Amino acid sequence: MEEKPRRIDPATDRAAAAQLLGCPPDEVGYCPRCQGLTHRYGRGAQVICAACRAAETASPD
Ligand SMILES: [Zn+2]
Repeated sequence: MEEKPRRIDPATDRAAAAQLLGCPPDEVGYCPRCQGLTHRYGRGAQVICAACRAAETASPD
């Protein structure tokens, strides 16, 4: 069973989000699509958050 990546609400504490994302808090930023928090900057940054990328690959028709 695959777990769907969850969007991290922008109201989430930055330090908590960083822990979820596995990156330093200063590399956390907003996803341009859903405004959720993502590993936006720095090494291995993912500008589009995991939830949006999963939605993209899932293609519901
Ligand atoms: Zn997103």
